[in-house]
Amino acid sequence: MTTTTAATHRPRIVNPHQLFDLSQEDTSSLTHLRTVLGDGQLFRYVESDRESANTLVERYFAEHFGKERAVAVANGTVGLRLTLRALGIGPGHRVAVNAYAFIACAMAILAVGAEPVPLDMGAQQPLSADADALERFEDRLDAVLIVHVQGHALPAGQVRAECDRRGIPLIEDVCQALGAGSPDGGAGHLGDVAVTSFQQAKQISAGEGGLVAGPADVVERVYRMADLGAVRHEGGLPDWDDERAIIGDNQRMTELQAALVMDQAEVLDETLARQRERRDRLRAALGDVPVLESAHPAGDAGSHTLFLAQDDSSATEFRNALAARGVLARVVWKKTWLEYGLFQRELGGSAGAPPFPKKAVALASRILSVPTSKYVTDTAVAQVADAIASGRRHLAQER
Ligand SMILES: *Cc1c(COP(=O)(O)O)cnc(C)c1O
Repeated sequence: MTTTTAATHRPRIVNPHQLFDLSQEDTSSLTHLRTVLGDGQLFRYVESDRESANTLVERYFAEHFGKERAVAVANGTVGLRLTLRALGIGPGHRVAVNAYAFIACAMAILAVGAEPVPLDMGAQQPLSADADALERFEDRLDAVLIVHVQGHALPAGQVRAECDRRGIPLIEDVCQALGAGSPDGGAGHLGDVAVTSFQQAKQISAGEGGLVAGPADVVERVYRMADLGAVRHEGGLPDWDDERAIIGDNQRMTELQAALVMDQAEVLDETLARQRERRDRLRAALGDVPVLESAHPAGDAGSHTLFLAQDDSSATEFRNALAARGVLARVVWKKTWLEYGLFQRELGGSAGAPPFPKKAVALASRILSVPTSKYVTDTAVAQVADAIASGRRHLAQER
């Protein structure tokens, strides 16, 4: 067909969905992937001279998050759900979760039969969870799930302290913010459990994949639930006669995914440094264009620069202005999870009442993200900056 217009084939300067793009990598340097392709063993529990790539991933991320142990799972959503179950969260329980978060977070809470309780953004800082509101919640809470946003670590110190006061666990969703640092120690460090994802749009990508890091006993329960409840003995054979076996599910990750994850994990520091350098260059080129600052600007992963539009229609105008110049900006989450009819139905209309997360509901549709992957060239950075400048009249002045 020759009827496609030039516009639909406009070269994309920035693809927001791929911080890691296999088609741009030198595959000869992907040593874990080559090893797995070389021996053809795609399942983690196989007889092989090599250590499974899944095991390497688990060891790496246990250390990365400063936790006792980690387990690789099929995806981040399942990681959240199995974490909640492993912590004993179920029917009758209430879990506070950012109102401004991916839909999977509240869904995972509902999937275990618990009730998601929306937590607003902090008064000073859109990229935060309202820890003061958390302190004021009068009803019982059984856990808190805080969700880091687009490479930016939300400050977690006060949330951690409140969880300690209540004696409840803190889970951190680090799916979008692997490597984002902060004075608190970085995304995933303050929580009892950190959950991440290796889906296409994340900092490390294997198309799909996920991981849970935390205390050994919690991780062990997640492990079993994701591995048909089996107890694995030396050599990897499953044992369902062992009295520790439970009813489980298969939510394992393949060796191909684990190898891709490991190849990226080993260069994560370099990738982060490169992203931050791209971000700094973009910020310098933007001059005084208002940017939505992370609470800890020095500590974000450098992967996404966020902007606040004046209102909903200016968000669309901003996006269009950038698209006309080949830059894909996206509204991160067009509304809070509680505004979806499905949550209203599920929660019998009680979602968010009270306390209603006013600020998150007002701002969600206005927050836009422009990524700076490691592949963005100097020329592209300049073009992205020009595109953003062309849309700046649609941005709110607050910084
Ligand atoms: C992607 C994502 C998830 C879910 O991860 P999947 O691997 O896609 O299931 C959960 N929370 C956040 C914040 C995410 O961005």
